[in-house]
Amino acid sequence: MAAPVPSELDLPNPIGSQILQWADELASHTEQPGMLTRTYLTPAHHGAAARIRDWMEQAGMTVRRDAAGNVIGRYEAERPGAPALMTGSHFDTVRDAGRYDGNLGVLLPIACIAQWHRQGRRFPFALEVVAFAEEEGVRFKATLLGSRAIAGTFDYAVLDNVDESGVTMREAIRLAGFDPQALPAAACPPQQMLAFVEVHIEQGPVLLNEGLPVGVVTAISGASRFLVELEGLAGHAGTVPMEMRRDAAMAAAEIGLYIERRCSGTPGLVGTVGQLQVPNGATNVVPGRAIFSIDIRAGEDALRQAAVQDVLAEIERVCARRGIRPEVRRTHEAASVPCAGWLREQWAQAIARQGLPVRQLPSGAGHDAMAIAAIADVAMLFVRCGNGGISHHPTETMTAQDADIAARVFRDFVEHFHPQASPR
Ligand SMILES: [Zn+2]
Repeated sequence: MAAPVPSELDLPNPIGSQILQWADELASHTEQPGMLTRTYLTPAHHGAAARIRDWMEQAGMTVRRDAAGNVIGRYEAERPGAPALMTGSHFDTVRDAGRYDGNLGVLLPIACIAQWHRQGRRFPFALEVVAFAEEEGVRFKATLLGSRAIAGTFDYAVLDNVDESGVTMREAIRLAGFDPQALPAAACPPQQMLAFVEVHIEQGPVLLNEGLPVGVVTAISGASRFLVELEGLAGHAGTVPMEMRRDAAMAAAEIGLYIERRCSGTPGLVGTVGQLQVPNGATNVVPGRAIFSIDIRAGEDALRQAAVQDVLAEIERVCARRGIRPEVRRTHEAASVPCAGWLREQWAQAIARQGLPVRQLPSGAGHDAMAIAAIADVAMLFVRCGNGGISHHPTETMTAQDADIAARVFRDFVEHFHPQASPR
């Protein structure tokens, strides 16, 4: 007896392989040969948008672009015009980027919708996939441009920001064939949206270390950032006795170690000193000045604020004891964005139905879902990345198998999706 002909779905990771192949193809749209760099409204960006539009259309979606350059594909509901479950992520990249950050959350839903389209399957709600034109903030030093346009929270002042060659964002939008005046019309009416969900690589090592392909995001962490300048007294490394020193660098070191200790051992809380300088430092000089940055994040605002209070108090204590004058400037403050409980629950059920353990974890990085939270309940699915969880780097990686599992979870989530009785 002849073996049965395998259907497409019997092949190993068919959707996963498709998604990774598309990600490879999309990565060829770059402004720097040999690496992936695709910033807002460059020719590479237009090329990628055109490709995404093709794939959306082939998957049975009607596609439109808005004035921010977002590519929006709509897979119509059983009853045309019904409100949509929105999903998506960004297709711009950092310089010398990985190929899955952002792009995965665009390509994965398209691949799933292509399958439903082939099966002639529709839902009581529409599905909208948004390829957000800008999230990373590379070209114009302003982030989340695409999702803010859709959320109706676009900051029009950034239209005057200029890129490295002096082109304003306003001009770039015009040159791309869009109308900056039409940006307010990009805002999506909240009553047309049931929810927003985003699939994204984790960009960290938690799922990898625990051997899990996917996880449910609890919240997008809030962040507090400071720039601290310490002024002590410079002196001769040979002649100033230890007990008479006012060493700014060692005060910075002591504070840095405290930050590390204070932020260790509390799940979801992280603290980083990413910049640490001794201006005009020399081997034979006791440092008179030190400058360092502080970045503290947590999924829960209360956790972050308590850590910030303790760190600020410790700076005072260390400086008083060492005779140092501190100057602390807050450079950034953002509250956390919680993922909606009812959506998290539906993600968890979709994961459990695949026979997988449900891992919940906060997102330490910012995402488009943060901006969309202004108009709809949001939630996120994280997918494991390999290579120690490295991201924003060409060695960012993920497997076809994980893409396939994530697609199965996404399909299950959508097929079982039931909106809240009264959406916002
Ligand atoms: Zn991203």
